[in-house]
Amino acid sequence: MVPIPSMKSLTTASHDNYGFHLGAELYLHRFMSTASMRKIEMVDLKAQYRKIKPEIDRTIQEVVDSAAFIGGKPIQDFADELEAYLDIERVVPCANGTDALQISMMALGLQPGDEVICPSFTYFATVEVIALLKLTPVFIDVNPETFNVEANEIEKAITPKTKAIVPVHLYGQSANMEEIMAVANRHNIPVIEDNAQAIGGDFVFSDGKKKKTGTIGLIGCTSFFPSKNLGCYGDGGAMMTNDDALGERLKMIANHGQRVRYYHDLVGVNSRLDTIQAAVLRVKLKHLDEYIAARRSAAGYYDKAFAGHPNIKTPFRAKYANHVFHQYTLIVSEKRNELADHLKANDIPAMIYYPVACDQQKAFEGKGRNAGTLEHTRWLSERVISLPMHTELDEEQLEHITKTVLSFYT
Ligand SMILES: *Cc1c(COP(=O)(O)O)cnc(C)c1O
Repeated sequence: MVPIPSMKSLTTASHDNYGFHLGAELYLHRFMSTASMRKIEMVDLKAQYRKIKPEIDRTIQEVVDSAAFIGGKPIQDFADELEAYLDIERVVPCANGTDALQISMMALGLQPGDEVICPSFTYFATVEVIALLKLTPVFIDVNPETFNVEANEIEKAITPKTKAIVPVHLYGQSANMEEIMAVANRHNIPVIEDNAQAIGGDFVFSDGKKKKTGTIGLIGCTSFFPSKNLGCYGDGGAMMTNDDALGERLKMIANHGQRVRYYHDLVGVNSRLDTIQAAVLRVKLKHLDEYIAARRSAAGYYDKAFAGHPNIKTPFRAKYANHVFHQYTLIVSEKRNELADHLKANDIPAMIYYPVACDQQKAFEGKGRNAGTLEHTRWLSERVISLPMHTELDEEQLEHITKTVLSFYT
């Protein structure tokens, strides 16, 4: 793994395209006072809804009229459409991303005491389900540039008890799945991708072939939480796999272990995507690529504004991935918390994802094992800050955000 890089070397990281185009409408915004500027949200779901309101209102009304709130036709339609979008055999919807991870681990038949290799630098849900099933999370460090786990760290943590590997495509950029799958296959260990932050992202193999994130491991898990890149208007999640028998098992476990009603072959859970959420997702899936483009465009603006800054390191863009920017996360050299306060004082929300790594959470005392010192995880926990990132950021807002960040370090 690369040593903790100095800020100087980090600022020279290359970026792909900036891709920010100044539309005529946005151009006019520049001459308006900031007093008239739209309020900056971390995620602006209201503005996004306004643009698709007729489609959304119509589809929700149809579900209400049909009264098929559970198990309605839009659920299977959405699963079929997501299968086509992702180019995968099976999409199994469920109630949320956390359930997707839990059901996946149940379907693999993991037993108490089995070890699951995962990052500590992730959202708590990834590792919570490991503990819930009485499995042992084995925390590995992340690469401080990509924020993701790497194959060599995974390989070092493998023991005879290792029964699954859970890479997380953090902030919307794929981990190096080609290398991770090579290690996993060599040791015959299944990979569950936590794709909650990266749906729609691509991974590019060294032969140039592309696959969607979440479709490379044995199972991919995602969340449709409203603020995710493909979000519904409540809770939702899904699992995806190319293994048909496993897909059937995932579906059964999500539905009380039954294939035929009232005949329970397995002990499962009750984890359903409801019809209204599926109907909303069918509409939003059609816009997903456009939403990703909007996020990448805002990221390009940020990249340009902060390029070469001595205190600010913009997100690394891996050659093997198409970053879908669930979050736009900076690494700052100093005064991270003061910067967050400064932004808040200027009506700009900012978030720290995540201030406390999973292995240091109170809930994990005595429950996990750290493979190594997790020095990059510690280092990042003190230096990351995520700026507003969503599909509706306009030039005026981006200018205000970047100027406010830059003014803090001068
Ligand atoms: C959001 C998220 C989850 C959990 O999804 P929910 O739908 O909120 O249960 C799991 N892992 C990661 C990395 C996430 O960002």
